[in-house]
Amino acid sequence: QFQMIRHEELECLESLGQGSFTRVFLGRKKGLRDGEGYVTNVLLKVLDSNHKNCWESFFEAASLMSQISHKHLIHVYGISVHQSNNIMVQEFVKFGALDLYLKRGHSVSVSWKLEVAKQLACALIFLEEKNIVHGNICAKNLLLAREGDQTSGNSPFIKLSDPGISLVMLGQDVLMDRIPWVAPEVLEDPEHLELDVDKWSFGTTLWEIFSGGKVPLQGLDLHQKLQFYKKGHWLPRPDWTELADLICQCMNYQPELRPSCRTIIRQLNGLITSDYEILHAAGTSLN
Ligand code: ATP
Ligand code: MG
Repeated sequence: QFQMIRHEELECLESLGQGSFTRVFLGRKKGLRDGEGYVTNVLLKVLDSNHKNCWESFFEAASLMSQISHKHLIHVYGISVHQSNNIMVQEFVKFGALDLYLKRGHSVSVSWKLEVAKQLACALIFLEEKNIVHGNICAKNLLLAREGDQTSGNSPFIKLSDPGISLVMLGQDVLMDRIPWVAPEVLEDPEHLELDVDKWSFGTTLWEIFSGGKVPLQGLDLHQKLQFYKKGHWLPRPDWTELADLICQCMNYQPELRPSCRTIIRQLNGLITSDYEILHAAGTSLN
């Protein structure tokens, strides 16, 4: 269930690029609050015409996100259907996707990254308690609502985006392209998604956050990506041992051995940035 939004309430302002199966725009939505008219910025996701057959799954993602509410989950206003366009209307998040933010070379501290990781884990606890599989967790789907400021001690604030078209609907090629985010067992059997698949993706996302927006397995073609899983390989270990261990536990090829979200949070809380700083101080003094 979701709200149908009349097309007249919406205004499209500028293109922000493309998603996997969507074109993405900044727009505005008119509304009424306490009898007063107001206008708010929104993000419009228009489903590609060559993926029209996936509209039900696309609407399901919108429906899911509009039924649940959590501070670290994106708010979806509803769906608008205009002519042959299916449009998801969601909250516009000011600083955009986290992968791009990190790639632009913003210098962020280790504690900043840890805070982002904890907020994502917090959203995952919420989903786990509700028994909801997200299925598309990655740095690209973390949106930065607040940058945070190191000097004033103001922390960043992220929101997890909608999962988009379900993994169940995607072809093998798309799934292979999502290696190393998609859990290995999904490639074997995409019909049966368990909560554990999100733990794997959390591990990959943690790797991305701490690698400064590097793309894991960049440059590998689909066949090479598949081989990576077939051979049971791991991403390069970050030099912070405790962090690397946590990533490894999440990216366990045996889904039932991945940690619960509560364990993940506990481990994140145990990652003290001063350990990391000591490690690096030791590293530099050896050179
Ligand atoms: P997928 O389902 O694979 O995640 P998508 O349709 O969600 O695909 P993305 O690639 O995730 O599309 O997003 C495209 C770009 O749009 C992002 O890089 C980001 O910059 C921007 N974007 C997405 N959602 C928002 C939002 N709610 N607020 C602001 N910018 C957004
Ligand atoms: Mg997305």
